[in-house]
Amino acid sequence: MASTPQQEHLRGLARDFVKRHIPLSLAREIDREDRYPYELLEAFGATGLWGVNIPETYGGMGLFSVDAMPIYEELSRGMPTLAWVIGNIMLYGNDIINSNGSQEQKERFLPLLAQGKLHFSFALTEPNAGSDAANVACKAVPADGGYRITGEKMFITGAGVSDWVVTLTRTAPSRHGGLTSFLVDTRSPGYSAKPLHKLGYHGSNTCAVHYDQVLVPAELILGGESALNQGWQQMVNLLNSERLALSACALGIGQAALEATIAYAREHYQPAAQRDQYQAVRHTIVEMATELEAARRLAYHAADLVRAGADCLRETSMSKLYCTETAKGIALRGLELLGAAGGTFEFDLQRYLRDVLVLTIGGGTSQIQKNIIAKTLGL
Ligand SMILES: Cc1cc2nc3c(=O)[nH]c(=O)nc-3n(C[C@H](O)[C@H](O)[C@H](O)COP(=O)(O)OP(=O)(O)OC[C@H]3O[C@@H](n4cnc5c(N)ncnc54)[C@H](O)[C@@H]3O)c2cc1C
Repeated sequence: MASTPQQEHLRGLARDFVKRHIPLSLAREIDREDRYPYELLEAFGATGLWGVNIPETYGGMGLFSVDAMPIYEELSRGMPTLAWVIGNIMLYGNDIINSNGSQEQKERFLPLLAQGKLHFSFALTEPNAGSDAANVACKAVPADGGYRITGEKMFITGAGVSDWVVTLTRTAPSRHGGLTSFLVDTRSPGYSAKPLHKLGYHGSNTCAVHYDQVLVPAELILGGESALNQGWQQMVNLLNSERLALSACALGIGQAALEATIAYAREHYQPAAQRDQYQAVRHTIVEMATELEAARRLAYHAADLVRAGADCLRETSMSKLYCTETAKGIALRGLELLGAAGGTFEFDLQRYLRDVLVLTIGGGTSQIQKNIIAKTLGL
């Protein structure tokens, strides 16, 4: 139900990394300058944590993707953007190759990913394919001994800085059965990515991507040539891990927002003169802490089910829904408790709120999670 001793060991390593490398001033600076945290990704290599969900034969730790949840939680508590960027690579580099790659692809990419030497992104979303993910129109057509990809992708994390972008394309008319993922080298002629300015997760390099006849050899179909038109199933294989990674990111933001609120309340409301008001403040903070604990239990319970190989679509969707919405509520109430100060850049509640608002959208919105849960309830 709670995290395992092994997960707690990983949590300790991540917490130590945050303590040593991410002073609050740096988290604020990266948010203010909206710059990709290259130096932190480099430093993260020394923890050995890049390879958590990569088999030992390829230089990793051989654990499940969900075992990385405490790492995302702690990184997110220190700097939400860093957790999002690292989680993105560990899911859409490590996990996507390990779960779906051909033998050659595993041998080529996993050892480098385990050392943090390659950065991957995943490009599914398009101007007309977000919640309706199967509506992908970016097309790949056979040409010149491989495939040429032409089309647009939107809101792709890290697409302007990654080495490879796993790109979901349309290769046949069948809605779900006509999709294929390609491993696209971002140095390929015809590939371009333009960063977008957005509310939260500054520094995560969210991009609009343009593919203009980008040539990709057939052997770089994810899973090899035999995996043509299997892109949908490959993506579905990763969704439970993605929902739980984002749950953990939300828990980290919720924890940071709770701690920031408690620190402010102790200083500003605790003195005897404020006692009447303090009772209301205390109760609000207690509710925030209780909801966060319930969210954490739900997320780690769902992780146990994933690890056991159970059918747990409902639980992982509930976790994504509840953790992100709970963290949003905590950041908002914390900001309100600070009064006008909460909206200033002197305090971090506004940053936590801006980041968490994005979390209820990315990886399937709250409404989409509700649709999934409703189906599992027979509705
Ligand atoms: C910071 C950030 C990073 C991202 N990174 C990536 C990435 O790396 N790769 C990638 O492929 N994508 C990425 N995304 C895209 C993300 O997955 C999509 O934004 C998300 O799936 C929603 O799609 P949309 O934005 O097109 O919204 P839409 O699908 O247009 O939805 C708009 C609104 O309508 C609601 N809605 C839509 N359909 C339904 C329905 N059937 N029932 C009820 N309500 C519905 C939605 O909940 C939402 O409120 C990222 C998004 C963000 C914000």
